[in-house]
Amino acid sequence: MQSENTFAALGLAEPLLRALTDAGYTTPTPIQTKGIPAVLAGGDLLAAAQTGTGKTASFALPILHRLMETAQRTRTGRPRALILTPTRELAAQVDESVRTYGQHLPLRSFAVYGGVSVFGQSKALRRPVDILVATPGRLLDHISQGNLSLSDIEILVLDEADRMLDMGFIRDIRKIMDKMPAKRQNLLFSATFNDDIRGLANSLLTNPVSVDVAPRNTTAERVDQSLMMVPQSGKRDLLIHLIQEQQWFQVLVFSRTKHGADRLSEQLTRAGIPTAALHGNKAQNARTRALDQFKRGKLQVLVATDIAARGIDVDSLPMVVNFELPNVPEDYVHRIGRTGRAGAEGKAVSLVCPDNEMKQLRAIERVINAPIERIVVAGFTVDETRTSRQRPPRDAKAPSQRNGHRHGRANPDSQNTRNADSKRPAHPQRAPRDAQGQGRDKPAGRSLGAQGRDARPRRFGNSD
Ligand code: AMP
Repeated sequence: MQSENTFAALGLAEPLLRALTDAGYTTPTPIQTKGIPAVLAGGDLLAAAQTGTGKTASFALPILHRLMETAQRTRTGRPRALILTPTRELAAQVDESVRTYGQHLPLRSFAVYGGVSVFGQSKALRRPVDILVATPGRLLDHISQGNLSLSDIEILVLDEADRMLDMGFIRDIRKIMDKMPAKRQNLLFSATFNDDIRGLANSLLTNPVSVDVAPRNTTAERVDQSLMMVPQSGKRDLLIHLIQEQQWFQVLVFSRTKHGADRLSEQLTRAGIPTAALHGNKAQNARTRALDQFKRGKLQVLVATDIAARGIDVDSLPMVVNFELPNVPEDYVHRIGRTGRAGAEGKAVSLVCPDNEMKQLRAIERVINAPIERIVVAGFTVDETRTSRQRPPRDAKAPSQRNGHRHGRANPDSQNTRNADSKRPAHPQRAPRDAQGQGRDKPAGRSLGAQGRDARPRRFGNSD
């Protein structure tokens, strides 16, 4: 029994095991196998884990277990565990997970986050809460209004700590920490580790158990990644073409700006593709509704900014598109990590403008330590070795003009020498629409058979 990889063997109480059975979980994921015993033992934890690894359950289950064990003794009504998250969506999802896992326990979880009425939350906070899930800003609002006290906190979780620091929450986090008892258990989860995170971990954690289940590149390796070189002005048409021809459903499209997300969402909708935008300027109920419709398949595409997308929890999201590359290469890894989760196969396609995104592309390829496969779509994509002066006019419509490969090898001074670009056919033809791998041509850089890359047997490790 002891050596079995089961939730029971990890020492979780029966009501939790029952909830896991209800949820259909049979086997703990690696972060759960390593993290749950560490948290049950009461020590601090430093975990390197991305979304999709099962990290939420790795802290929620042992927290519920520990609180349950002492529930009778210390019933003050004030929260005893605090889970801080960077975004409202993540807070709502963590709260939902805690409720699911704790459904057979007499413990109450509640989430406070911005974008919805403070009043409604403060009313709900008058009832006893055992586990509080919160975004930092709204939590501080409630504390300053006297709606809640952190004086009984025994366990603190910083979820997606790297993102919280990116979003400038460090001061808020420190203020919040000052309002809690110094003696407590601290758990820090982060997908990436830089000096800031290490600094925070050093000041927060005491002799932590370190768990690293997802080295930065594992997710990246599991995802079938490709890119298409396309001028910024041609991206929208290419995306519409790909979604329609390849029949992509449940597509998460990343946009660099909120405004860009809105505009693209409108354009796709006008093209007959049900789409919504998800970003921080949207009212909370609009975001919740969009997410819900996307999950239920009523929306084909969700266009999201990086921060908003962090909260999207959809199992095995099949398709991620980078409409623009992120400025921070690690964000690329986060983005594509939204697909290919828990062993499922996923695809990530990036639309890259050779005029102004080559720097980001090179940085990304350095981080994932591999070149990303180039796909040519005749009539849409261009050759990355060409300078903007050689590119056809922006408004060129005729396929012969749009097919920007006439000068494909005209620029031997290209900065990008790593891509075997010279192998790219000079005049790729668009494949017949009903052919397999529609619209895709032989990609440069790797020889992948004329039937298109969907037929490739290439897959990376798929166990989680
Ligand atoms: P997370 O990394 O916490 O965002 O979890 C990713 C997804 O995996 C969520 O939809 C969970 O419900 C699901 N999940 C977590 N643990 C397990 C497990 N042991 N077995 C199956 N699914 C799981």
